[in-house]
Amino acid sequence: MNIYRYDAVIVGAGLAGLSAAIEIKKAGLKTCVISKLHPLRSHSGAAQGGINAALNEADASLHEFDTIKGGDYLGDQDAIKTLCQKAPETIRRLEKMGAVFSRAKNGSIAQRAFGGQSKPRACYAKDRTGLTCLQTIYEQADRLGVEFVNEWFVGDLLYDSFDRSAYGVAAMKLRTGEIAAFNAKATLFATGGYARCYAVNSNARANTGDGLSLFLRKGLPLEDMEFVQFHPTGLAGSGILISEAARGEGGRLYNALDERFMERYAPQKLELAPRDVVSRAIEREIIEGRGVGEHKDAIWLDLTHIGREMIASKLPELSDLAKTFLGLDMACDRIPIRATAHYSMGGVPTDNDCRVKASPTLTTSGLYAAGECACVSVHGANRLGANSLLEAAVFGKIAGETIVADMPDLSPIGAGDHDANIFFEETRRLLRSSGAENAANLLATLQNSMTQNAGVFRNRGSLEKQVEIIGDLRDRFSRIRLSDKSSVFNVELQEALELGHMLDYSALIVSGALAREESRGAHYREDFAIRDDEKFLRHAFGYLDGGKTRLEYAPVAIGDYKPEPRRY
Ligand SMILES: Cc1cc2nc3c(=O)[nH]c(=O)nc-3n(C[C@H](O)[C@H](O)[C@H](O)COP(=O)(O)OP(=O)(O)OC[C@H]3O[C@@H](n4cnc5c(N)ncnc54)[C@H](O)[C@@H]3O)c2cc1C
Repeated sequence: MNIYRYDAVIVGAGLAGLSAAIEIKKAGLKTCVISKLHPLRSHSGAAQGGINAALNEADASLHEFDTIKGGDYLGDQDAIKTLCQKAPETIRRLEKMGAVFSRAKNGSIAQRAFGGQSKPRACYAKDRTGLTCLQTIYEQADRLGVEFVNEWFVGDLLYDSFDRSAYGVAAMKLRTGEIAAFNAKATLFATGGYARCYAVNSNARANTGDGLSLFLRKGLPLEDMEFVQFHPTGLAGSGILISEAARGEGGRLYNALDERFMERYAPQKLELAPRDVVSRAIEREIIEGRGVGEHKDAIWLDLTHIGREMIASKLPELSDLAKTFLGLDMACDRIPIRATAHYSMGGVPTDNDCRVKASPTLTTSGLYAAGECACVSVHGANRLGANSLLEAAVFGKIAGETIVADMPDLSPIGAGDHDANIFFEETRRLLRSSGAENAANLLATLQNSMTQNAGVFRNRGSLEKQVEIIGDLRDRFSRIRLSDKSSVFNVELQEALELGHMLDYSALIVSGALAREESRGAHYREDFAIRDDEKFLRHAFGYLDGGKTRLEYAPVAIGDYKPEPRRY
């Protein structure tokens, strides 16, 4: 088995991974970025609407407040301060690297309104903001000579649990099936989001949360997993995203009675209330029989009043999506939409410098996480739109800087031949398995049941049922059979590995949701509809011990802003 040696290994080539890679490479360290996809196919490239910064405000304090309130006071206020204060310099850095942001009439960077924001703050490149940022930063990383290890699937974290030290990863080359160890003093996970465990979702196929489950399997915790964001406007049927930019540019929502129903749910902010509020309103309208479409299971998004020219200049991608997937013309047709699983507030717990925590009080050595897979907790219980590209760019860079600063103190642990064995055996077991179960069926059952039982609305009964379903699926997973036994681009094997990861972290989403007997941000319990600060103004750390979930709690970092009722 080959062992490749580096100072730093980065898993994930989205905005977070690449932002870190640039800092590490600039410091002259030997680093590589491993990705199961070509970097430009990372989900960062799918982001449409924008990236926030308080560019034309005296300071970032209002952006901070909007983010804290948007997250229903569960976000850590010191981390949020860093996020918002570094936002303007992050936009300028991206622009200097070559990102072409759309301009206002006076030539300055244009900013559009987004949900839950007191001011228009989302900088954008038409509705292809993520692609513009990702392409730019990829070009810069490539120019600096960052080494890319593309189409390798990372399947194990090399971790000494006694010393709580990481020393790289084990990965499989998808083209040949080769399994190798990537040995490093510093290991950064930037593996993105994981909403693919829901049937209706906006995420790329690759967003299967592999990174998270690898942590769970080493006895490490995940934080606040019950907080999954449902974006209000997925295309009906597919869940493909129609960005919040559509509402930012004036889009309105109507029910079957032609009521602009947001007037009832958020009289001031209307369609530009935060995503959790709008998603619940949409689902409530549907449940109460005011849905539209053949099955009355959608709501109208109306952009017909904003004009063809505006749609063409500011929302061309969205207009293409509506035409391609529904055959509708946004300039004259209303578009049927429904809430879609979109973003994951929870993830790998880190301190504000992106070092991974082994528990609420214990740290690790040589192990880092940034971007959507991490939970530094800037989004709390609900992320505001256009704050996530920002998080990936800001904390990706911080992760790189921390790794450079920590490097002299990291003691190298050499990897041996046996280190890739756990992953090697996992793939052999799947290839040899002669059971009767089919991975695609198990995945469909997981996704449908997660949408049904742990979706926009949850209650004790639905969540207890989901615990059982996941237990049963895990049992059946041990008996799946693959029909493709080859080692060359074995997609069936890759999907089976991903399904294993999805089952692991989904168990944490459900157990966290069951234990949190309150409603906060994106987590809405029908049986506990009120936010309960006394009992639950705290972070949940979830572990998977021998297949069983266990929770611990940690305090929230409150700063200048004390929790208040959240009204829009
Ligand atoms: C449709 C859509 C629109 C969005 N629009 C916006 C927006 O307008 N504004 C905003 O702020 N946010 C938006 N978001 C959210 C935002 O895009 C993401 O949160 C952010 O880009 C995540 O960046 P990342 O670097 O953490 O991960 P990603 O860009 O998802 O990259 C993850 C990387 O990890 C790699 N990886 C994963 N698992 C493995 C493995 N096992 N082995 C090897 N490699 C692996 C992948 O190959 C990939 O390179 C949107 C999200 C979606 C889905």
